[in-house]
Amino acid sequence: MRDLLDLSFDELSSVLTDWGEPPFRARQVWEWVWKHLETDFSRMTSLPQGLRDRLGAKFRVGVPRALASQTDGEGTEKALLALGDGQAVEAVLIREEDRRTICVSTQVGCPVGCSFCATGRSGFVRDLTPGEIAAQVLHFARELRPSGERVTHVVVMGMGEPLLNYAATVKAIRNLNDGRGFSLGARRITLSTVGVVPGIRRLAGEGLQVNLAVSLHAPDDALRGELVPLASRWPIREALGAADLFARATGRRVSYEYVLLAGVNDRLEHARALARLLQGRLAHVNLIPFNPAPGLPYRRPSEADVDQFRRVLVAAGVDATVRRSRGVEIGAACGQLRGLPPAKVPPPLSGTGPGLGPGRQPGRSPGPQRGRRASESGPCGPRSGRRAPATGPRWRSGRGAYPPGASSPGPSSGEATP
Ligand code: SAH
Ligand code: SF4
Repeated sequence: MRDLLDLSFDELSSVLTDWGEPPFRARQVWEWVWKHLETDFSRMTSLPQGLRDRLGAKFRVGVPRALASQTDGEGTEKALLALGDGQAVEAVLIREEDRRTICVSTQVGCPVGCSFCATGRSGFVRDLTPGEIAAQVLHFARELRPSGERVTHVVVMGMGEPLLNYAATVKAIRNLNDGRGFSLGARRITLSTVGVVPGIRRLAGEGLQVNLAVSLHAPDDALRGELVPLASRWPIREALGAADLFARATGRRVSYEYVLLAGVNDRLEHARALARLLQGRLAHVNLIPFNPAPGLPYRRPSEADVDQFRRVLVAAGVDATVRRSRGVEIGAACGQLRGLPPAKVPPPLSGTGPGLGPGRQPGRSPGPQRGRRASESGPCGPRSGRRAPATGPRWRSGRGAYPPGASSPGPSSGEATP
């Protein structure tokens, strides 16, 4: 049975035209699904009964079931969503003042294998379909609706590398953006890529006003190759060139993400080299202090080191802010998503891992710091604002719940040390 969410508006129209339906039907069905968030054809009451039956026989609306969900004290909610073939992905809702941001996954696992990322360390299983990507947003939109809330932003920053699943990702974005249904403005959508050059160039030609974030993590190709194994295929210069093309084509400022790993890429010489690379570009740097996950052999730098790094960039004329990641304690922040049901979580790796070669210090500073200075950002830690009093993680009862200490690193298990 096909997933209706995999279809563009035009594809839906042609199916309905082939069935002999009048032209206005496509819009009606589209609105039921993408505007009214209905998943049950029998409740699409403005459609003739025969069409409801026919749709129900051929299609499903693939909004996934949550196998588990977990909420922290600030209203960040991580859901483990079931896919049709027994796989699962994680998606995150970040509540922040008047923003409701959904962080979506594009692949089960990730083939890039970044040494500091829990998703990358868990291997690659498969690409998501367009419907499976958009359905993560619809899942949370349905959850928010009874309280009159709406999804205001989407960040493609969950599991996977979106530009290695290009067609499905762009189709999902177009469907969410379509003004006849979900109608989420493209400028409210941010796509983060590890720097897949052909994908960035192609995206620049789509005529889509989405925001682009390029994950850099190192100012030179040698260090970047250690941290982001696939990066050697696309040297930094080429990634920057493609991002410049995107900036010119869309008039949008590009963000550069830089995960700060204590003693690895957070030294002043790295900051100076990064500043030299980005000076004069329409750019903004998001510094992301490392978020721990079990088995990841890195540490978060001290606040002082993070601040000093940022100051070097700003002094050189490069706009930079520190991302305050949301959901760290429930394993919902950047790089912590794994999409594993609790029973399948592998034990932590021992010893040092890639990226901590000889001579590299794993870090001099203490582990994760709570109550660190709030600052800017995009959603795996969106812009800061007033903080609700932290009440600690909550595990939802009723439908599935992540048991404490299972699939998500809790506050103590999350403090990975090399
Ligand atoms: N694959 C894409 C998008 C998903 S990752 C990309 O890499 O850009 C989204 C962001 O989370 C990236 O900037 C990534 O570098 C960051 N990230 C990954 N692991 C992290 C970790 N352990 N701590 C902090 N940020 C991390
Ligand atoms: Fe993949 Fe992004 Fe994680 Fe790297 S950081 S492994 S590209 S999801």
